[in-house]
Amino acid sequence: MKYNKLLFCIFILILMICTPANALTITHPEQNDMTVSENGIFFSGKIGKYEKIFINGIPIKPQKRGAFSYCFPLKEGENIFAIQKKDWLINTETIKYTITRVSPVTEKTHNQFIEQDKKYYKTIKDRVVLRSTPIDKGMNRLGYLPENTKVVIDGQTNEFSRVYLTKDNYAWVFTNDLTLSEEDNKEEIFSYKPQTILDTNQIKNKKETTTVIELSDNCPYSAVADDNKLIVTVYNLDTPDECYSKEYNLEKFPRYSVCMQNNILYITMKKNPISKSYSNRDVKIVIDAGHGGSENGAIGCLGDKEKFLNLDVALKLKKILEAHNFDVYLTRETDCFLSLNDRVKFAQDKDALIFISIHLNSVPISDDPNLNRGSIVFYFNPQSKNLAKSLSKTISQDLKTVDGGSSQASYAVIRPTEYIGALVELAYLVNPQDVAIYKNKKFAKTSAMAIYKGLANYIHTELEK
Ligand SMILES: [Zn+2]
Repeated sequence: MKYNKLLFCIFILILMICTPANALTITHPEQNDMTVSENGIFFSGKIGKYEKIFINGIPIKPQKRGAFSYCFPLKEGENIFAIQKKDWLINTETIKYTITRVSPVTEKTHNQFIEQDKKYYKTIKDRVVLRSTPIDKGMNRLGYLPENTKVVIDGQTNEFSRVYLTKDNYAWVFTNDLTLSEEDNKEEIFSYKPQTILDTNQIKNKKETTTVIELSDNCPYSAVADDNKLIVTVYNLDTPDECYSKEYNLEKFPRYSVCMQNNILYITMKKNPISKSYSNRDVKIVIDAGHGGSENGAIGCLGDKEKFLNLDVALKLKKILEAHNFDVYLTRETDCFLSLNDRVKFAQDKDALIFISIHLNSVPISDDPNLNRGSIVFYFNPQSKNLAKSLSKTISQDLKTVDGGSSQASYAVIRPTEYIGALVELAYLVNPQDVAIYKNKKFAKTSAMAIYKGLANYIHTELEK
C-alpha cells in the first residue's frame, strides 16, 4: 500500500513536471492597467496545449499553436477583465486587467466654413501641404509649399484655412502652418499682389528633363496625376483669376518630382531606364523592411515581433533579386531604427525605379482581429497601381492568404512620385488563423519568392503594353 502511494506520488510529480508551466501568454494588451479612449479592446495571446482559458467567464477557443484573439466592448470608466487559466490538472490562475475608458478629447469640429476678409498669409515652414479638402488624410494632396509662400486666405473650416486659387477654385492648408503677412496687409482694403512668370526653360540630361519656371515669388501650385498625365498648375499670377497650367504625358514606369524652391518651380520628368532589350541590371530596386530597432511594429498572438519577420523577408528577397542580377538595395539590413524620412531619402538618393516596403498587418485596438485576415498591398500614386495589383496577386496565391487585393492609402514611404512604390502587408499578425501562415518555416522564402514573381510580372506586362 505504502509502495503504491509512493508510485502514485511520483506519477503525479512527473505529470506536473511535464505539464508546461505558464504557457498562457497575453501579447495584447501589453499592460495590465491601461487607459484608452476606444470603445473596445482585443486580447491576443497563446494558450498551452493542456490549458483552457476563460475571459470574464467566456471560454476562449484557440486556433493552431494555441493562438487566440478575442474582442470585448468597453464601457465608459473602469472595465475589469479576469483571465482565468485552468490546466488539465486542478490548477487555476487568474490574471486581472483593468482597462479604463475615458471620453476622447475631441476638438470641437463644426465643419462650417467661416468666412473672413481676404488677407495675405505666409507659410512658416517648408513643405506645407496644400490640400483639395479640409481633411488631414486621404488622397487630397495638391502640392508642397516652401517656407514664406504667400497665400490669400478668405476663411476657415475647422483647423484649416481656405486658400484662394482662382475664381471658385480653392485649396486648404493647416492654419497653424501660416502667419499673417504684415507687409502685405498694410492697406485698409485688400489689394491683390500677383506673381509673374519671369522665365521658363528646360534642362535635359541622360536621366531626366527638368522644366524650370522662374517666378517673381513663391506661390501656390498643384501637381495632380492620373494614369496618363501629370497636370501642373501655378496660381495667383498677374490677375486674381489667372493661372499657368501644363500637361506632361506619363509614359512607361513614370517617375517625376515637382518642387518649389527660392521662387523657382522645378518639374522633373525622369527617363524610363528600361526598354524592351533591358537587362535586370538596369532595374534599381529598394527593399524596405518596415520598423526596426526600438520600433517593433505589430506583435503577433504568439509574441512574434513584426520588425524581425519583415527583415527576414527583405533579406531573402534581396538574395533572390540579386541572383536574377537586379540592382538591389535594402534600407536596413539589421535590427536598427530608421525614420520614415530616412527610408524615403534613401530610395530617392539611390534613384530607385521600384520601392517595396515589407510589413505584416495589425488592427486598431477596438477592432476584432478575427475579422481581419490575409494580405493586402497599398499604393498611393496612380503610377504605382499596377505594381501593387501584380504583387497582391502573387502574394495571395503563393502564401495562400485571403486575397485583400490592392488599395490606395496615404503612407509616407509610398507617397513620393520619384519612384514606383508599394507597401506590402503579407498577413495579419494578430489574426489567429494567419498565425499558421507566418509561423510556417518557409514563410519568408515563399513571401520573397511571391514578391519577386509579382515584380517580374509587373515589369514584363508594362513593357509589353
Ligand atoms: Zn508594419
